[in-house]
Amino acid sequence: MPPVDTDPRPVPLLLPGAGDWLAWVAQRCHDQLEEAQQQVGLVKAGSSDAPVVLVAWNKAETAIANAESVALWAEVHPDAAVRDLADELSQQVQKYVTELGLDRDLYAVLDRLVTSADLSGLDADGRRVLEHTLRDFRRAGVDRDDATRDRLRELSERSVKLSQDFGRNIRDDVRSIRVAPERLEGLPEDYRAAHAPDEDGLVTITTDYPDLVPFITFAVDAEARHELALAQNNVAWPANDQVLQDLLAVRRETASLLGHDSWPDYDTEVKMIGTGQAVADFIDRVGEAAKERAAEEVGVLLERKRVDDPSADTVATYDSRYYSELVRREQYDVDGQVVRTYFPFEQVRQGLLDVTGRLFGLEWTPVPREDAGTWHDEVASYDVGLDGTRIGRIHLDLHPREGKFKHAAQFDMVKGIAGQQLPEGVLVCNFNRGLMEHDEVVTLFHEFGHLVHHVLAGQGEWARFSGVATEWDFVEAPSQMLEEWAWDADVLATFARDEAGETIPAELVAAMRRAEQFGKGLYAVQQMSYAARSYWFHAGPHDDLTAYGDELQRRYSVFPPLEGAHMHCAFGHLDGYSSGYYTYMWSLVIAKDLFSAFDRDDLFAADVALAYRDKVLAMGGRKDAADLVADFLGRPYSFDSWAAWLAE
Ligand SMILES: [Zn+2]
Repeated sequence: MPPVDTDPRPVPLLLPGAGDWLAWVAQRCHDQLEEAQQQVGLVKAGSSDAPVVLVAWNKAETAIANAESVALWAEVHPDAAVRDLADELSQQVQKYVTELGLDRDLYAVLDRLVTSADLSGLDADGRRVLEHTLRDFRRAGVDRDDATRDRLRELSERSVKLSQDFGRNIRDDVRSIRVAPERLEGLPEDYRAAHAPDEDGLVTITTDYPDLVPFITFAVDAEARHELALAQNNVAWPANDQVLQDLLAVRRETASLLGHDSWPDYDTEVKMIGTGQAVADFIDRVGEAAKERAAEEVGVLLERKRVDDPSADTVATYDSRYYSELVRREQYDVDGQVVRTYFPFEQVRQGLLDVTGRLFGLEWTPVPREDAGTWHDEVASYDVGLDGTRIGRIHLDLHPREGKFKHAAQFDMVKGIAGQQLPEGVLVCNFNRGLMEHDEVVTLFHEFGHLVHHVLAGQGEWARFSGVATEWDFVEAPSQMLEEWAWDADVLATFARDEAGETIPAELVAAMRRAEQFGKGLYAVQQMSYAARSYWFHAGPHDDLTAYGDELQRRYSVFPPLEGAHMHCAFGHLDGYSSGYYTYMWSLVIAKDLFSAFDRDDLFAADVALAYRDKVLAMGGRKDAADLVADFLGRPYSFDSWAAWLAE
């Protein structure tokens, strides 16, 4: 007799590894679309038994999510042919999703469940699924007339293509400057060693983060920093200027056809913040709260800059990191070049796993590449265990390469559905392969916060609530809260060691934290200048996005706009977050509030960490974010912790 299968848990997705990715990607997408169509057919068969209909609808949504995750391959696959195929398939998937959203027969079946049928067969989750599904249908325009729906269909298709163009133009446009070796003065030894002159005697510095970030932080040569900043701020210029204008126009028209005054009004209807006006108010409120502090801080930077250049009367954007670093070194006794010696990449990656494993009660088991079948040698895969059971798989793709996504983000590979499919997520980052800046360590913790959220919230029944499925302006709260662990001396002591095996001294971490206080105002106003671009670009039409962006920079930031820069072209969030870049600061307000429940002297205290895990993360989208936070804190969220943090 064959052994009884005592573990009905699903297995990870079988990736092709060294096999034929083109065929695999096409097949998987095709199969999932077919499955979705079949399940939608069952829904439309017209049963009036709500649980029966919703089970089929859930299967359809699961298959659609699986098909949508084809977009991942456009961002990470080393083979350009696979990336192109993924873009093309994504268009087909989104076309299907648009069709579904405008399908009146399908909507009628689901709507009838509410109006006529007996809903007592549905539990609270089932009712919420139905309520949110119907809301999404209305937001797609299903109840509009034929002509409007035709136009919405066109706009949606156009928007998908424009989004892809916008992302591709950024991904494929790595710029560089070429400088004489002596212009690397100030850069760490390992950086200089990795940047030997080419045959013509010049060194190439690209806009990829591991090249760019140390350079603008440490390079003494202001003109070289200026050149590199200009290169970075011209990525995807001019191509993306028109793409963005077209995308903004599509969004404006979409919102207007759906009966909203503006895209932000449409967008915020399903966010915590609620209205477009509330976004504008929030940006101003934060800007106002941080203004004075930012002005003081820029004064300190200017004073330090005048030591080098007595005639200086402003601090440029490309001076900001450099002089902040100098101020931290000279006035706070924190030398970034010393700090980074404690953060060799592999040690940090393992340290992160150990820390988060301990915090959330998770086990990470490495999966060899032969078994994981991933797309590149540098991808590290792990099974996620909870109480001895595998609950997911993660993949860490953390270094830059040609044609890869240029920023840092978590991508869904598989949404977890109990008994059907294991959650799988991918971190896509661009870190240094050798020593990491502490900033990078913080970013790694941040992105890992999304990944843990995705896996822990992938243990339920409903596709709609699986993973990072809360209101979108809450999603940066768990990630920003996890950053706190990368600032704690006890936590860092578990993995931050230099070559000689010396652990990072607690006094150094204390100094880093004091130094981090410096620049908080600058950070807040700079964030608001990005948030203002994101919001105001969407709030109404503007002929010249460069000029308007500069105007917003002058209004919110303390750094003057950089002449000749076109940062909006490479500002990927304008696509992904549209008018919602405020999300980061809004989520930070919530993150600071969530963090107030933890004991700062013992960040590993199990009771609070596990309560947070179960009441917030594991819930996914099963409740409104405000309710999740209130369940955990025992009270509604407030601005108090954030305001105290800003004033510290
Ligand atoms: Zn994030």
